[in-house]
This record gives sequence, structure tokens and C-alpha cells, in this order.
Amino acid sequence: MRLVTFDDGRVGYLAEDRVVDLGDLVGGYSHPGTISAMRRLLTDWGALREQLPTATAANSVALSSVRLGPPVPDPTKIVAAPVNYRDHKSEMKMSVDISDLAVFLKAPSSLIAHGGTVRLPYSDRRVDQEGELAAVIGRRARNVAVADALDHVAGYTGLLDITMRGGEDRSTRKSFDTFTPLGPWLVTSDEAAAPDDIDLDCTVAGEHRQSSNTKNLIWGVAELVAYISTVMTLEVGDVIATGTPSGVGPLADGDEVSVTLSSIGTLSVTVTSDNPGPSPTGTRNR
Ligand code: MN
Repeated sequence: MRLVTFDDGRVGYLAEDRVVDLGDLVGGYSHPGTISAMRRLLTDWGALREQLPTATAANSVALSSVRLGPPVPDPTKIVAAPVNYRDHKSEMKMSVDISDLAVFLKAPSSLIAHGGTVRLPYSDRRVDQEGELAAVIGRRARNVAVADALDHVAGYTGLLDITMRGGEDRSTRKSFDTFTPLGPWLVTSDEAAAPDDIDLDCTVAGEHRQSSNTKNLIWGVAELVAYISTVMTLEVGDVIATGTPSGVGPLADGDEVSVTLSSIGTLSVTVTSDNPGPSPTGTRNR
């Protein structure tokens, strides 16, 4: 099943080129102050998936007519893996990898949807694309074993971990507003390919920059979920960015960036730089 968030927080599934609205299934949309319809859907997905309405003219709209949101618009956290492909470790001339660095957090406020716009924050700093597979948590995870970890994953989607290079903390360099495109939709675990065998390709302005497969991850999805769950409780809807292979490179105004994951789809965004000024930090790293 391909699940979407669309038109300001509605939730649905894709039936061919139609979006079937699942608002009734999740108790409607008038829940001020509560979690998103997608997180409510994922919380009860085991039961609700048996009750999905079939597409009709009345309960569905054309996919081309909706505005997609990030599949999960309100994760409690985005947990990300640094240096989790060996070829990226080499290109960054790093002597350490995830087994030394563990994980970091990106601000959920950095999320944007498929079709959105990444805004470059400064005139004098390099900002790169990092194409990644993202796993979305479907069941709360705390101290889970590697063997059980994938039972806590609802599904997978595409993610761009947009990154300012330099010496600031990762949580700063990767958390600017618009720096986490997510989508286009969430493919449930039963329909996605095995998470250790998904092809990843990333293109920037027509240049094919990244080509790999998640079998090359140093820590795979199960290891990531299990490890992270020993540090912090993973909640339904939390997003795990699994890391990027080699081929990262700078973005420029007007670039179109696309990451394609086999069995999942293509996430595309554009880049803009509307006359930003210089960075107030990082002068020693330029
Ligand atoms: Mn990354």
C-alpha cells in the first residue's frame, strides 16, 4: 500500500492514479491539538488495513489534483545515520563511521514534501544533497532486538538529507527549514522490497550523482532501529534517515534534485537561493 498525506493533513492510500481519502477511518480531521491523521492511521494500521474502502468517484480524487505533504508531517523526531556507507566514508576522507559516531537528530521543522523547494540559507556556504532511504516507525520501539526490529517499521519512503558542509554541529547543518524533503509517499513494509536490497539513485540538475543499493549500508535498517531504540524510545511516525552513499555534491539555485528508490518511487524537489547573506558561523572552516 502507498499511503499519502495530502491537502493540508488529509490521509489516503493510492489506488492507481487516485487518492482514496481515509479521513473517516481515522475518526475525521477535526482533532485540534492532536497528532496527524497519518500517525493515527499508522497507530491502528494492523486493524484499519483490513477496512480500507475501495476507490469510488465519491471517496477519491485524482493524484494529479492533490498537493502532497510529507508522508508523516509531524514525527516526534528524525533520527539520522552519519557515515553509513563505506564509499561515502572514503569520499569524505573520514576515519570514523556510524559505529564510532552513532546517530544524530534533524529538526522535524525541516520537513518538506515532494515537489517542494529547498532554500539555501547563505551566500558563502556549500550545501549538498544526500539521497537516502527512510524508514518510518509503525510500532513504539524501546530496547528491541535486531531480529524483531523490522516488526516496528511501518514502511519506507525517500528522503533528502540536505546538508551544509562545515564544522558546526550536524544538528545545525542539517536542520535548516526545508532541509528534509520526505516522500513522495510511504510504501508499507509488505509492498516495499526488503530494506537491505533497495536501489538508490540520485540526480541533481540532470547529473546522475549517486547510485548504490542499501545492501551497502554499514548498519542496515534492523540494526539502526534496534540500536536507536536502546537510546531513545521510537514513536509511531518517527523517521529514520539511513545514510547516504558516495556522490554528494553542491546544490545551486534552480537545481532539480531527485532521489529514486526501487519499489518505492521518486522524490523530487527544486532548489532556490533568494539572495541570502553570509553565514554568521563557521568562518574557520571556509
Ligand atoms: Mn545523511
